[in-house]
Amino acid sequence: MAELRTLVLVLGDQLDREASAFDGFDAAVDRVWMAEVAEESTHVWSSQPRTAVFLAAMRHFAKALQDAGRPLSYTRLDAPDNAGSLAAQLAQDIARLRPSQLVMTAPGDWRVLQAIKAVAAGAGLPLDVREDRHFYVTVREFVAHARGRKSLRLEHFYREQRRRHQVLMDGDEPAGGQWNFDADNRESFGAAGPGFLPPRAAFEPDAMTREVLALVAERFADHPGRLESFAWPVTREQALQSLDAFIAERLPLFGRYQDAMWPGDPWLYHSHLSAALNLKLLNPREVVAAAEAAWRAGQAPLASVEGFIRQILGWREYVRGIYWTRMPAYADGNALNATQDLPAWYWTGATDMACLRDALAQTLSHGYAHHIQRLMVTGLYALMLGVQPQQVHRWYLAVYVDAVEWVELPNTLGMSQYADGGLMGSKPYVATGRYIDRMGPHCKGCRYDPGQRTGERACPYTTLYWDFLMRHEALLAANPRMALQVKNLARLDAPERDAVRARADAIRRGEVGAAHG
Ligand SMILES: Cc1cc2nc3c(=O)[nH]c(=O)nc-3n(C[C@H](O)[C@H](O)[C@H](O)COP(=O)(O)OP(=O)(O)OC[C@H]3O[C@@H](n4cnc5c(N)ncnc54)[C@H](O)[C@@H]3O)c2cc1C
Ligand code: SF4
Repeated sequence: MAELRTLVLVLGDQLDREASAFDGFDAAVDRVWMAEVAEESTHVWSSQPRTAVFLAAMRHFAKALQDAGRPLSYTRLDAPDNAGSLAAQLAQDIARLRPSQLVMTAPGDWRVLQAIKAVAAGAGLPLDVREDRHFYVTVREFVAHARGRKSLRLEHFYREQRRRHQVLMDGDEPAGGQWNFDADNRESFGAAGPGFLPPRAAFEPDAMTREVLALVAERFADHPGRLESFAWPVTREQALQSLDAFIAERLPLFGRYQDAMWPGDPWLYHSHLSAALNLKLLNPREVVAAAEAAWRAGQAPLASVEGFIRQILGWREYVRGIYWTRMPAYADGNALNATQDLPAWYWTGATDMACLRDALAQTLSHGYAHHIQRLMVTGLYALMLGVQPQQVHRWYLAVYVDAVEWVELPNTLGMSQYADGGLMGSKPYVATGRYIDRMGPHCKGCRYDPGQRTGERACPYTTLYWDFLMRHEALLAANPRMALQVKNLARLDAPERDAVRARADAIRRGEVGAAHG
């Protein structure tokens, strides 16, 4: 065999032929390395849709590399000599291929970076970890942004990026004279419902994807989630089609209905682009440019376009900065000392709470739920129940097709569970069932009543909200953004407090909330 100069490592969420790892690639002396390993589906109990998205996209990408003439060592999950983990597989392949150096784009997961560094060191090989150009902001730039600030807030960061990258700007001023159009967004559908909704951009699995679906169904038969309705984009071409369809059909109403929920319809006016973005099938710059162009062409209102761009140029970049500047300690955060176990029905959907049942059912069927369902239905319940945040994190990392740790962990531990003590958000996101009642009609079909906090029909969210305020009263009283909520709590007399506590205890013992029969 000719001498191998470089082994270029490509992970399942690095499916971009223009990635920095390929800079200077020479097919005569370099080779690409990819591996499907069981550990990536078992270190958390990864759902079947999530594993299938990764494997199907990896196989299509491998084919594209081969078609482009790039030599490739690809280990399939069912290969007889599969070593089972990225580290073991890489060590085995280094011994066989004997490269002089390893090159990769910076991975999205701290655990994986440590594992690969250890293999390289063990083999005595130089490892060149290159900047991930997919993102607008490097980790170094994020550090510079954070330096000297007492608190990190999205809004400062986001405005800085708008200016720097000249996105939605008219000269030095934000387009339309405002940075933020939240006040125009976030309606519910009202009693009449959403009416006609554009169908989701769905992709019939081809032979390669069908092979993956069969493999996942067999190999991970006891893992959560289902594959019958699998229709995610798994190639760059499909991802671009999804983007086009979103811009033309959904973007105009994205902002207005960003927070709305409707039973049985997971897709609404969201983009469903997160998996394609996180696998690097799409570049955020092309997504942001397409949204801005739609506004400039008069095809979508500014409020919607700004709301959408803020998620990508703002939140997505911001959480990555938090992750890479705070790991590994960040993953252990538990500022509220929460110790409860995650209810077992999070993995099955078997709850009698209508809002949760719906969010869990679609999560298991599609590996998808939109942001407000994640934050204000599944996340809110776990927060107020007092679930240990690392269990919540493992659930979110397992069930969603877009789940990669750099984006999942800060959203879960920080934004949703307040486990970082307020680094990501200035206060815990807590609310009664009335919030869910405002954003959709679930409560109308539920055995519980969002307006009641005690008694047999009390909505568990409402009970747990008051219980949460009581349990953390001292901490919350010190937070000016919680002043109104703490003031309302002061109106509860001792018998009412006891009744709330008793009902919350029954919920924690599992006597309320699980579906029976
Ligand atoms: C507890 C919790 C866990 C989450 N876990 C993940 C995760 O594992 N992977 C993931 O990509 N997103 C995660 N999010 C963020 C957000 O919920 C999803 O990005 C979004 O629901 C994906 O659906 P969509 O593509 O239709 O998004 P849209 O509503 O159409 O938004 C457009 C895009 O903006 C980006 N975006 C939106 N909100 C966020 C955010 N808060 N952080 C980072 N990017 C954002 C995504 O790339 C998304 O595709 C999580 C949020 C919460 C509250
Ligand atoms: S009453 Fe409570 S549990 Fe039932 S749907 Fe409304 S918020 Fe959810």
